[in-house]
Amino acid sequence: MSDAPSTPTPTPFPAAGNISDAEREELRRHGILLTSLEELYNWGRANSIWPLQFGLACCAIEMIAAATARFDIARFGAEIFRPSPRQADLMIVSGTVTKKMAPNVVRLWNQMPEPKYCIAMGACAISGGPFKQGYNVLKGVDRFIPVDIYIPGCPPRPEALLNGLIELQKKIQTEKVAGPQAAKHLRSDVQSEFPVPEYGEHDIVPSKNPDVWSPPSLPRKA
Ligand code: SF4
Repeated sequence: MSDAPSTPTPTPFPAAGNISDAEREELRRHGILLTSLEELYNWGRANSIWPLQFGLACCAIEMIAAATARFDIARFGAEIFRPSPRQADLMIVSGTVTKKMAPNVVRLWNQMPEPKYCIAMGACAISGGPFKQGYNVLKGVDRFIPVDIYIPGCPPRPEALLNGLIELQKKIQTEKVAGPQAAKHLRSDVQSEFPVPEYGEHDIVPSKNPDVWSPPSLPRKA
C-alpha cells in the first residue's frame, strides 16, 4: 500500500458565462480580471455617451451647469455635446416641450442613429410640469418618443442629471448583444423612427403616438 499523498482533484474552472459575481470578485482579489466581449462593448458605449446639444427651457440651464468644471460631466465620459443629431446617441429633453416644438424634437430623434437613448429631464419633459394644463404644452415627451430615464424636479439639479446618466450607464451595461433579449438597436422588429406629428389648426395632430405611449389605467370609483 502506497503512502504517497493523493493528488487533489482540481476544481473545474467555471465557464465564463457561469461565473457568479462572488467568484468573479474572488478572482479579482487574486489579480485575475475576467470580461467578455459583450461587457467590453457595453463598457465602451456606456462611458462615451455623446448628448445632443440642445435645450428647451430652464432645465437646460442645469444641464449646461452639469458640463461645467464644478459638476464635470466629463467624469462620466459624456462631455462631448454634439450639435448634429447624426453624431449624438443621447437626447436630453431638458425643458418644456411646446406643441410647436414637439414635431422638431421627434424629427431630431429620428435623425439620431441607433443605438440611441433619451433622458426626460424635469417635470415639463416628463408630464408638462407646471404648464400641464396649458393649451400649448405637451404633457410628456414620451407621448411621441421612447424615454429611457426620467429625472423628476423643477428643475432637477445637475447632480440629479449625473445620477440619471449613471442609471443610463447601468442600463447600457446590462444590454445583450445577441439572442432573444438583444438590445433594441440590434433587433429588426423594434422601431427606431416615429411619425412626426404636425402642429394643426388647433392642436398637435395626432395628440400622441399609441405605439409609444398608452395612458395608465386609473381605477375609478363607481
Ligand atoms: S421643469 Fe421647471 S425648471 Fe424645468 S423647464 Fe419646466 S418649469 Fe423650467
